[in-house]
Amino acid sequence: MASAKDPDIVVYFEGEFQPLANAKVGLLTHALHYGTAVFEGIRGYWSEEDQELYLFRPREHYERWRANARLLRMEVPLSAMELCEMTRELIVRNRFQCDVYVRPLVYKSRQTIGVHLSPETDYAVVVVPFGKYIESGQGLRVCVSSWRRLNDNAIPARGKISGAYVNSALAGDEARANGYDEAILLTEDGHVSEGSACNIFLVRHGQLVTPPVSDDILEGITRATVMDLAREMWIETVERRIDRSELYVADEIFFAGTAFEVAPVIEVDRRPVRSGTIGPLTHRLREAYTNVTRGKTARDSHWRMPVYRKAVSETAR
Ligand code: PMP
Repeated sequence: MASAKDPDIVVYFEGEFQPLANAKVGLLTHALHYGTAVFEGIRGYWSEEDQELYLFRPREHYERWRANARLLRMEVPLSAMELCEMTRELIVRNRFQCDVYVRPLVYKSRQTIGVHLSPETDYAVVVVPFGKYIESGQGLRVCVSSWRRLNDNAIPARGKISGAYVNSALAGDEARANGYDEAILLTEDGHVSEGSACNIFLVRHGQLVTPPVSDDILEGITRATVMDLAREMWIETVERRIDRSELYVADEIFFAGTAFEVAPVIEVDRRPVRSGTIGPLTHRLREAYTNVTRGKTARDSHWRMPVYRKAVSETAR
């Protein structure tokens, strides 16, 4: 089985399946200089019990990718369903039997110097073995970043645009350099927006609260999933502006994202969230999220795309 650094890993690049070692772009590629690319991040979960790899909500990720590409005047030529099928084939070709991360990237491929949105685009999909992104089991200690979340009228945060991730990298790096696990970014006008690569939820007075999509957040698929899981527990989520000081009086706080999954926050700016332990609702939602992503429940099975079951039935035909 291939590992993330394995040059023999098979990727989809310039219209064909080929080894990672051959998938190279030129030094003058527009996206490399100007960040003119849009990416996605999809997780796949290996179930030892089911001997199956489940992609989690790949269609929604691919639909978001195709929509966001348009922000930079790009078109992904395949439909979301075709992209799901191609990803399935990539995983089967690599014979992955472990948790994986799928990274689609559509980018401005013209070899040129000049700031514009040139028409030439290309796209690639890479799948790599992937475990935990961040160790959050005991809860995260986070800070409010001195960097502000980039604004929709500067670089649309909802776009998952490569260049925008300089903002995330600055905030995440500052937090870690100062001894925190992660950063919370505020909007330009000082409201809570999100983490460096994850959405945020607070529990206040028994209510789940999260910033609205108009507060420069990425419209997260995990965020939507958490809201659905909460609804199944008869808990409605309120989408509203959140003041910074609410972080210091919240009963619970957690992050939600494909890489972060559901990650409890136990401290903000060295102030414990509640008693500095993982709250009950966070605990329940984290468990529900794990069960649904790993196929431990029959519920919400439409969110999971089994990779090998389909492949086996195709071979049998
Ligand atoms: N915000 C940012 C900035 C992100 O990069 C991500 C990860 N894609 C998220 C939020 C969470 O989004 P999702 O749940 O769709 O992964």
